[in-house]
Amino acid sequence: MSDHQQAVQYLKSHREQQLSDLNDFLCIPSISALSEHRQDVRLAAEWLVARLIQAGFQNAHLDETPGNPVVVASGPHAPYRPTVLIYGHYDVQPVDPMAQWTHPPFEPTVIDEVLYARGSSDDKGQVYMQLAAAESWLKTTGDTPVNLKFLLEGEEEIGSIHLNEYIQNHQDELAADFAVISDTPMFAAGVPAICYGLRGLAALEITVRGPFQDLHSGVFGGAVMNPAHALATLIASLHTPDGTVAVSGFYDGVQELTLKERQAFASLPFDSEAFRQSTGSPTLFGEPGYSPLEQVWTRPTIEVNGMWSGFIGEGRKTIVPSTAHAKITCRLVPHQDPEHVLTEVCTHLKTHCPPGVTLEIERGEGDPGTVTPLNHPSVTAAEDAIEEIYGTKAAYIRMGGSIPVVVTFQEILKMPTLLLGFALPDENFHAPNEHFHLENFFKGAQTIALLWDYLGSRDPLEFASTTR
Ligand SMILES: [Zn+2]
Repeated sequence: MSDHQQAVQYLKSHREQQLSDLNDFLCIPSISALSEHRQDVRLAAEWLVARLIQAGFQNAHLDETPGNPVVVASGPHAPYRPTVLIYGHYDVQPVDPMAQWTHPPFEPTVIDEVLYARGSSDDKGQVYMQLAAAESWLKTTGDTPVNLKFLLEGEEEIGSIHLNEYIQNHQDELAADFAVISDTPMFAAGVPAICYGLRGLAALEITVRGPFQDLHSGVFGGAVMNPAHALATLIASLHTPDGTVAVSGFYDGVQELTLKERQAFASLPFDSEAFRQSTGSPTLFGEPGYSPLEQVWTRPTIEVNGMWSGFIGEGRKTIVPSTAHAKITCRLVPHQDPEHVLTEVCTHLKTHCPPGVTLEIERGEGDPGTVTPLNHPSVTAAEDAIEEIYGTKAAYIRMGGSIPVVVTFQEILKMPTLLLGFALPDENFHAPNEHFHLENFFKGAQTIALLWDYLGSRDPLEFASTTR
C-alpha cells in the first residue's frame, strides 16, 4: 500500500473516533460574541491543543492575545518540501433564536448522515477535518508529506480583532509557501470547489450640507439648493444608465477574465432565474457583457448602502432639509488598488457636486481583492485530490465577499491562500440548525490528506514563481 493509501485508509477506519471527537469539540459552546462564554471559548482552544498533541503535534500550544487565545502548532519540518499554514477558527456564532433549533445547538445530533450542531460546518467541523487529515499521516508514517503549521483563532466571528497584530508579531513562526482555509462552501452538493478569488472592499461616507437648518419650503423652497436633490444628483453620477461605473480611473488595474475562467464559470450548474428569484428583484440588472456570476465574483461595484435626509416621519413636513447623507462601499477585485479607487471616487464626487451645497467626505478603509494564481501548485494539486476522492472535476469559483485574513496573509506574510471548503451553501452557517453533511466531512479529510501527498513532491521554489 502506498503511503497516501495508508493515510486515506486510516481516515476511513477511524470514522467512529473522528465523530466522537468532533462531538466533544462541538459540545463546547465557544460563542465569542458573548462574554458569559469567555471560559468556553478558552476551553475549546485548550481542547484543540490537547487534540493536536494527541495527533502528533507535540509543540501545540495556546498563545495569549488581549482577547481570545490563538492555537498554534507545527509538525515535522524538512527544508526540501513546501510549508503550508492551515488557518481556521474555533469560535462560533450565537445561537439565537433558540426556539428555531430542532435539536439543541450544543448537543450534536446525526440524522440521515447529516450532523446538526452550532459550529458543525462553520468552522469546527472543517477545522477537525484538517486535524484528522494531518493525523492520518502522522499515525501511519510518523511524518507529513509537507511541513504543516496550524493557526486557529477564537475571534473570527467577532471580526478577528487581535489576529492582525498577532500575525504581524509572529511572521517567522507563521512563514509558509501558502495558506489553506477550510471555511467556505463547495459550489453545490456534488460540486466540490476551489475558490481562488475574493473581492475586497473600500468604504466612504458623504454629507451634503445646504442651509444651516431645515427651512420652510414655502418661504425658501426654489431659492436654495435642496441637499437631498444634490445628493441624488451625485449618486446618479456614479453610474451610467446601463450599470457601468462612471468614475474615471475606477477600473484601473482590473483584469479581464481569461477564456478559461469564463468557460469554467459558464459550466457551473447555475440558474440565473433561481438566483433572481432568491433576491425578489423583478429583473437582474448589472454591468453589460458579464453573466451574473461574473458580475458578483469578478467585477468591481459601487453601492449605496444607505442614504438619509430630511423628514421621514408620519405625515407631511414641508421643509428644505439642511443635510443629506450616504454610506457608500465599493467591492473591489484583484489588482485594483483600494487607495487609488477611494481617491478617484472622492475626486469624482467633488467635481460632480452641484452648486449651492458643500460636500464633506469621510474616507474609510480599503482592503484589496485577492486571487490565487490558477497555476499555483496548491491549486493544481487540490484539483487532482478532489478528482480522486470525489470522482468529479473540481469547480473553479470565486466569491463576491471578502475574507479579511486572506488579505492579511497576502499583505503581511506575502503568501496566497487556497480556499478549500467542504460545507454546502445551504448548511445554515450563523443560523438555527447549522449542519454538515458527513459525506463531505469524511471526503474532505481524505481530499486534504491526498493534497499533502501531491504537494510533497513539489519543489518549494515552484511556489514563488507562479503568476496569473
Ligand atoms: Zn467561519
